[in-house]
Amino acid sequence: MSDVKKGNSSNAKAVNYTVKISRQKGIRMRVTAHGELVVHANPFCTKEAIDKYVQDHVNEFNYQPSVRIFGRSFRIKKVKSQTSHVSYSENELLIQYKDKAEIETLYNRFLKKISKDVFSDVVDMVYFRFSDYEFEKPKIIIRNMKSSWGVCHPDKNSITLNSQLVHYPIDFIEYVICHEMIHLLEPNHSEAFYRILKEVMPDYKRRLDLIETNEEKQYLV
Ligand SMILES: [Zn+2]
Repeated sequence: MSDVKKGNSSNAKAVNYTVKISRQKGIRMRVTAHGELVVHANPFCTKEAIDKYVQDHVNEFNYQPSVRIFGRSFRIKKVKSQTSHVSYSENELLIQYKDKAEIETLYNRFLKKISKDVFSDVVDMVYFRFSDYEFEKPKIIIRNMKSSWGVCHPDKNSITLNSQLVHYPIDFIEYVICHEMIHLLEPNHSEAFYRILKEVMPDYKRRLDLIETNEEKQYLV
């Protein structure tokens, strides 16, 4: 299981790819059987260097742009049309546009809408796990964050979720929301924190395994 590199996935023009850290010189790239672009790089390669490598070499591959939504890969198909609309089927995201200039806006608006709808359902499901605890369901704010998957604001009874979570499996998103909800009760990662976590989400370790790069892991705070 791997994930879309953070910060490069919200742009329809950008190339989505997964980075696998390996001990080797330089950077290598391949296309998986599912049409995903995977870049192998050593831990010292900067994001800029990897981005540049991908942009310089992507044309050498028979590669179709794709996006990962809630952990599933969708090929992006863009079609000129009388109406502007984004829809999806089992493995394809169809962007119908009147004017090429609006593609990026349509795409970003679609991701924003689907995040809002799905995150809200997931919050309800996770909140249900806390029926033995007394706190009001927190308000959810979604925005792109550079350094964390979620942030809890107990004083405002709100949780901010990283908009990039839209690319990750629901099981992982549930973990992030659960983690932040516990911070409404326990501000630190104390023993009490983990006691609640094990109680409300006994399989949390499996969910953490859904992310695998060190970069993704360091956002878990
Ligand atoms: Zn925390």
